[in-house]
Amino acid sequence: LFASETEFLKGVVAMDGLPPADRLEVCFAGRSNVGKSSLINAVTGRKALARTSNTPGRTQEINYFTVSPELFLVDVPGYGYANAPVAVVQKWQRLLKNYLQGRVTLRRAFVLIDARHGVKPVDDEIMSLLDSAAVTFQVILTKADKVKEVDRTKVLTQVRGALTKHPAAYPELLVTSSEKGWGIAHLRALI
Ligand code: GDP
Repeated sequence: LFASETEFLKGVVAMDGLPPADRLEVCFAGRSNVGKSSLINAVTGRKALARTSNTPGRTQEINYFTVSPELFLVDVPGYGYANAPVAVVQKWQRLLKNYLQGRVTLRRAFVLIDARHGVKPVDDEIMSLLDSAAVTFQVILTKADKVKEVDRTKVLTQVRGALTKHPAAYPELLVTSSEKGWGIAHLRALI
């Protein structure tokens, strides 16, 4: 599936901008700085691919990558902005909700959680949105190389506890480090 080159397709700002639903897709969601771009780059084997979606102006777009004729990979950036104007946040939340609820080809969401911080209220919000959209999601702990073994166990317990409230949560957690390459092959295989 990842044999051919993954390419950036487009950034979408409204539902009518979505590409044709002609293949399956998986999406990646997470707070900014969670390590989403690094993970997408690691999974696709393309060093600077997802930086496109991190540039200012692209942070409130749903970013589509073409992996193959059978698969889109979708980068859903930056929920939980602290500083954006209310109208901007509301427009973004509406798009996100419509996308999650309306995209028939969306097979799974990956929700990225920093292995140092665990589930935060904004993460809980997106998980609730996924519940209501009935999109199965799987949590990926990122930057696992930054935490000691004992702390990692604590965070895993916190995350597992938080997931019990979410019917759409897939029970298996993935622990990854883009820096060390941990869990990347497994994630790629899952996709
Ligand atoms: P995004 O905003 O979620 O796309 O996050 P980025 O992928 O840009 O990463 C944010 C910061 O965390 C950058 O400085 C990355 O180098 C760093 N980072 C990302 N993944 C890892 C990881 O697995 N391990 C470590 N140690 N740092 C990481």
